[in-house]
Amino acid sequence: MNVAVVGGGIVGLAAAYYLAEGGASVAVYEKGSIGNGSTERSAGGIRTQFSTPVNVDLSLASIDVWDEFEAEFGADISYRRPGYLFCARAEETAADLEESVAIQHERGVPSELLTPEEARGVCPGLVSEKFRAASYCALDGFADPHLALQGFVTAAREAGATIHTETPVTDVLRENGRVRGVEADGERIETDVVVNAAGPWARQVSRMADLDLPIAPRRRQILVVEPETPVPESVPLTIDLDTGSYFRPEREGAALVGGHFSTTDPEADPDQDPDSYATGTDLDWSAQAIERAADHTTYFGPDAAVKRGWAGLYAVTPDHHPVIETSIPGLVTAAGFSGHGFQHAPATGQLITELALDGEPSLVDISSLGSERFDGKRALVDERNVA
Ligand SMILES: Cc1cc2nc3c(=O)[nH]c(=O)nc-3n(C[C@H](O)[C@H](O)[C@H](O)COP(=O)(O)OP(=O)(O)OC[C@H]3O[C@@H](n4cnc5c(N)ncnc54)[C@H](O)[C@@H]3O)c2cc1C
Repeated sequence: MNVAVVGGGIVGLAAAYYLAEGGASVAVYEKGSIGNGSTERSAGGIRTQFSTPVNVDLSLASIDVWDEFEAEFGADISYRRPGYLFCARAEETAADLEESVAIQHERGVPSELLTPEEARGVCPGLVSEKFRAASYCALDGFADPHLALQGFVTAAREAGATIHTETPVTDVLRENGRVRGVEADGERIETDVVVNAAGPWARQVSRMADLDLPIAPRRRQILVVEPETPVPESVPLTIDLDTGSYFRPEREGAALVGGHFSTTDPEADPDQDPDSYATGTDLDWSAQAIERAADHTTYFGPDAAVKRGWAGLYAVTPDHHPVIETSIPGLVTAAGFSGHGFQHAPATGQLITELALDGEPSLVDISSLGSERFDGKRALVDERNVA
């Protein structure tokens, strides 16, 4: 079987590896360089603390791979697991956390509900008086997205996949209601299956096949900060759910600081061109990111200094879940991860392979991830734990 994968991010490369391992002849087409999209701009977070069964299951199946990544692929991806700490100020947010933890427990995740004082035990700089409740899971952590992507690149090549960079796909070929290949580099390339793993560009690629998926690019920013007090590496990725602010330890006391603030971040515009966004950070957002981090922890006082920062794109769907499906015969879509596609790439690569090779996904029940859920006839179930 011949497969063309559109997109050389972590989802496309994980798919290329599992497809090639499964016996397919695979070619990846990337319009820029590898990792050109969101992947290299990610914070690298890997967590089990989601609010819906399908996201928890995607995490568990992916963590099985992240755990064995170094042994399996020979690549150190700097995987550290100090946990994730979600903190709730409002009563409603605390109730949501409780519901999420119950769902996580049903799937076997050892997350815990903590009192604010207990939360300060895992994050000593937390201003615990601001919070009503927290949840923590020691399984959670983060890895280096660049190293992980390179690990999949090497593994995919060794399994026989070819990777074409600087090669945009300009059309999706169709015949008698099924996809037959792609046009790239001015050539028609016939394949049995095409995989749309184009991240924030997935809507553009789906339109080439006359489909319209509600996947919108949304700009998100991150700072690397030299805090006033060094952040120990044992501190979890800590999220203040009610303000949208989060931080996590980087190396040598530095921290990554991020967040989504309604005052500085506009809503996603489905028609924004993903090629025309500002890749640097905004001054007003940066000031607010530090101010909000300083409001819930003691690490970021007035002497905290920004070392660098960047912006990237989330690919956002209306319910903050991806679309993973066979959209039309011969076209598999895996996009719209809404800020958690780095961590879910290993499970997604395997699911794409199952869909492409035998049509029946078994790794995770993804029956809720088809795009027909956006037909307006049913209520969407939103993922609440989105940073
Ligand atoms: C600031 C920030 C922080 C994040 N933090 C986290 C986190 O902590 N944890 C987490 O799990 N996720 C995180 N994410 C989200 C994560 O980065 C993405 O979900 C993930 O990288 C998506 O991978 P992808 O392969 O689907 O897309 P991408 O990495 O965007 O890859 C898509 C690729 O497709 C290529 N492409 C597009 N159109 C075409 C075409 N026509 N022809 C050929 N190639 C094409 C693009 O050039 C691009 O390289 C974060 C994202 C941002 C922006």
